[in-house]
Amino acid sequence: MFGIWGHPKAASMTYYGLHSLQHRGQEGAGIVVTDGERLKGIKGEGLVNDVFDEKKLDSLKGFGAIGHVRYGGKSGIENIQPLLFHSSSGSLALSHTGNLINANDLRHQLEMQGSIFQTNTDTEVLAHLIKRSGYLATKDKVKNALSMVKGAYALIMLTENELIIAQDPNGLRPLSIGKVGDAYCVASETNAYDLIGAEYIRDVEPGELIIINNEGIHEDRFSLSGSHAMCTMEYIYFSRPDSDINGVNVHTARKNLGKQLALEANVEGDVVTGVPDSSISAAIGYAEQAGIPYELGLIKNRYVGRTFIKPTQELREQGVKMKLSPVRKVVEGKRVIMVDDSIVRGTTSKRIVRMLKEAGATEVHVCISSPPMTNPCFYGIDVSTHEELIAANHSVEEMREIIGADSLTFLSVEGMLKAIGQKGLGENCGQCMACFTGKYPTEIYPDTPLPYEKEMK
Ligand code: SF4
Repeated sequence: MFGIWGHPKAASMTYYGLHSLQHRGQEGAGIVVTDGERLKGIKGEGLVNDVFDEKKLDSLKGFGAIGHVRYGGKSGIENIQPLLFHSSSGSLALSHTGNLINANDLRHQLEMQGSIFQTNTDTEVLAHLIKRSGYLATKDKVKNALSMVKGAYALIMLTENELIIAQDPNGLRPLSIGKVGDAYCVASETNAYDLIGAEYIRDVEPGELIIINNEGIHEDRFSLSGSHAMCTMEYIYFSRPDSDINGVNVHTARKNLGKQLALEANVEGDVVTGVPDSSISAAIGYAEQAGIPYELGLIKNRYVGRTFIKPTQELREQGVKMKLSPVRKVVEGKRVIMVDDSIVRGTTSKRIVRMLKEAGATEVHVCISSPPMTNPCFYGIDVSTHEELIAANHSVEEMREIIGADSLTFLSVEGMLKAIGQKGLGENCGQCMACFTGKYPTEIYPDTPLPYEKEMK
């Protein structure tokens, strides 16, 4: 998500912001702008570049804008964000990252009271709650709505006259604010600021509500019980290495995970390689710590998207084949230590091990820079259902056999915390680790929906 307020080329800046956040979602993109009188939006399926061209951006005139790239979820253009609603009391656009765990309940209640929904998203529930609130001031309407929702939500909203930013009481998804000239901006990841020449100011705190308008920035809270539980997978896999989350650089965090993994693993090898792109930093850290050369043993075809968010199994399998190639001269005749960030179903790992062996590797030792993933995520990262998670149903030795590796090592939970936890941020050093430990930072309802019904790597 990206948003900006007070810039004459708000739509173009948002376009560039979304560009640097493209890794967060490739299934759809949208931008909504305000010129102070009305909101106008364009959205479509595919990459940011597929959805927008110069003509479309020129047609989005305004000084405030919000944008979104879509990651998984139910297909259909109506589900692509920002969602835009018009009413006689004014328009509202919403961009949301995360997953509202009580959305089913709230939606049912709203439907019983006569609400009609246009989309399948949990985000629309929020729009209804905001619009139905009897309060007059935006701040109070939003506070009232947020008091009813539970789960993960980093939010950027836009009205004709305001940019509204909110972070859930656990701060599960990253969100920060920056400044470019006199304009304020807000982004899911700090790397978006580099591309547009903006300066990072600070992260949005758990439970915080920020409203930006022509009078300036107004900082407030909607929840006093904010405690940090940042998604650990943001550091491990999801975010870009050049982003910082809560002041920690993602590349550095991954390198530390790799170093810690090398300390815990008892593996001999001739060469260390990482599965591109998200595991390269961890592999460099591993190699540095173990004193074994790091080499590019696998090459990624840049023009294929992330495989695990392709919507169907068939597309996903094709994606893996098209995506990675082994570098024969690097791995031939070698004992290869292959560092990867996680194992979800095991299908990707199995294929890569086979690929390395077919390219001549004498041994393939798989080292994972996170603990076994044994629980589903309800907060917006698709780690599949319990049944589909290989680590939920098999021992490490069984998994090793399934993926065909000569050895398989996972990082310990303690090691992971040591590598990326931040003292002073409270319980679990400010991290959510629920997919590894089963300890969720929020309550989970019996009918809490999994965010997405789709495939995973
Ligand atoms: S359960 Fe796992 S993937 Fe989900 S928010 Fe927590 S750490 Fe992230």
